[in-house]
Amino acid sequence: MQELSERLKSLQLNSMTLDEITELTEFFSQPKYRAKQLFSWLSKGTMPMDMLNLPMAFRKELDAIPFGKVSIYAKRKSMKDDTVKYLFELGDGNIVEGVLMRYSYGNTLCLSTQVGCRMGCAFCASTLEGCVRSLTSGEMLQTVNTVEADNPAPEGKRCVTNIVLMGSGEPLDNYDNVVRFLHLITCPDGFNMSSRNISLSTCGLADRIYTFVEDAPHVTLSISLHAPNDELRSSIMPINKKYPIASVLEAAKYYANITKRRVIFEYALISGKNDDIVSIRELAHRLRGINCHVNLIPLNKVVERKLFGTSRADAYKVQQQLEDLHISATVRREMGADIDGACGQLRRRAIKEKDREET
Ligand code: SAH
Repeated sequence: MQELSERLKSLQLNSMTLDEITELTEFFSQPKYRAKQLFSWLSKGTMPMDMLNLPMAFRKELDAIPFGKVSIYAKRKSMKDDTVKYLFELGDGNIVEGVLMRYSYGNTLCLSTQVGCRMGCAFCASTLEGCVRSLTSGEMLQTVNTVEADNPAPEGKRCVTNIVLMGSGEPLDNYDNVVRFLHLITCPDGFNMSSRNISLSTCGLADRIYTFVEDAPHVTLSISLHAPNDELRSSIMPINKKYPIASVLEAAKYYANITKRRVIFEYALISGKNDDIVSIRELAHRLRGINCHVNLIPLNKVVERKLFGTSRADAYKVQQQLEDLHISATVRREMGADIDGACGQLRRRAIKEKDREET
């Protein structure tokens, strides 16, 4: 049992898989059936002392194990479309954001995987102060459960029906925790979300995409492309110097072939940079032959960098141009624009306000 106690030191209780929880219950000399009871509580976000069908002595032992805690620090609801933007406080006081978006088919939670980000994309607010740390899988699971508790659904139903790993952070730069989280959230004995209802968005760490196919449940892969050639992409996304477009597209093709699922390319339309017909033709040419869909997003402006979004009217023209070139495309619905809905914006504002109060 040496091995288990070593592992326990580095794993929070709510990051453990059912197999690890089974080992844990054996370690505490509990009957086997307790493992599923405990795992079921954890998948609902319950803290040990509230696990009512477990003996008090066992609850106390569990309570001494680190737990990925998450609470609501602030929230804002859009007056326009019911989108809720959350700021979550982690056990160590760090703050991350999440967004709950309501659609006709269900509710999608956009989750953060890191506090900040170290990818350095020129247009993204999440990366401005670098990456403070990665979230654990328990913290990601607890974020989902915190939103569930804040939006009680009718008996037998869930509020969060879909998840997108598209908040702050680069999910494939927090590989082990993200893979573990995907196993936890899809586990039939736990939260039991279908992998079909989950998307992961990456800036294109090509080599990790190959291992991800093997290691994780087959979720929808979104790739932030944003440019049709290496020159432009490298100027706005430093990661492109390490993984040029050709390597990213090759990995995307592989993912689509193995999983038999369409890969989504995100393309933020930046006025005068990547939204002209020459760029769009180049994009269509490069994507030909890949089972994919393009999600067009008018850029949320970044005044400091003089980057401005294409108008929605022009975004629809780009969509038509892509469709004419036989590439399926849509313009992303604008949600929560009145509540700093975009990546990193609300967290930065809250941290600035917090700093102002403290000084
Ligand atoms: N690191 C991951 C996921 C987080 S970013 C990734 O790069 O995909 C989530 C999405 O928001 C990405 O597509 C990112 O490129 C986009 N994004 C960031 N800042 C933006 C902005 N100012 N306007 C529009 N989209 C933005």
